[in-house]
Amino acid sequence: MTEALFRDDATLLECHARVLMADALGVRLDRTVFYPQGGGQAGDTGMLRLSDGRELQVADTRKGAVPGEIVHVLADTGDAAALSPGSTVTAVIDRDRRAAHMRFHTATHLLCALVPHPVNGCSITARYARLDFHMNQPLDRQQLTEGLSRLVAEARPVRHRWIGEDELEANPQLVRSMSVMPPRGQGRIRVLEIEGVDLQPCGGTHVANTADVGDVVVTKVEKKSAMTRRVILGFAESAAG
Ligand SMILES: [Zn+2]
Repeated sequence: MTEALFRDDATLLECHARVLMADALGVRLDRTVFYPQGGGQAGDTGMLRLSDGRELQVADTRKGAVPGEIVHVLADTGDAAALSPGSTVTAVIDRDRRAAHMRFHTATHLLCALVPHPVNGCSITARYARLDFHMNQPLDRQQLTEGLSRLVAEARPVRHRWIGEDELEANPQLVRSMSVMPPRGQGRIRVLEIEGVDLQPCGGTHVANTADVGDVVVTKVEKKSAMTRRVILGFAESAAG
């Protein structure tokens, strides 16, 4: 079991941690700032700095076989030999990649508020994000971009809190996504609230205010199937050049 520090503070870029296990699969730590791929959001990359100053590159982060376990996938699996259980490391994430994930992830919540239909697919990377909506009506790209800009300009606070599973059962409308059901059996569920805009269970990383989403635009709207409309988001700065 790894203590997931990013769940309560997504702004942490590094932490000290103790090695629980290191093998060909990757490194398990007692605590980490690395987000494991899940809920549509890509895993973090970065490095583990050893006490002797050596830096081991982390190519990806995945959930382990055991619930709550987080696996730091090493770029060079041979590096695992440098880590013994009980040794301490400093875990450092790639700041730019995570910042992009946080901006896009928050933007997907804004998009959910603009498109009141169930979500049946989601992917959040450092270069783009896409959401699939279960619907057959057309969507207007320009209109969605304007809606996003308005919600970003309104600078609404983004915060999370933990609720009991019984509270979730009593409020089924909280579950917007058809493909990503909140994890059950852990007694509490993390819900993400964008003040006055969106409220739903989510374990991902987000910016603290919609203003920090910045210039995110809808780059494409696609009809994927009779009942699926796909919306792709990009950064205006990279779309421009
Ligand atoms: Zn989220």
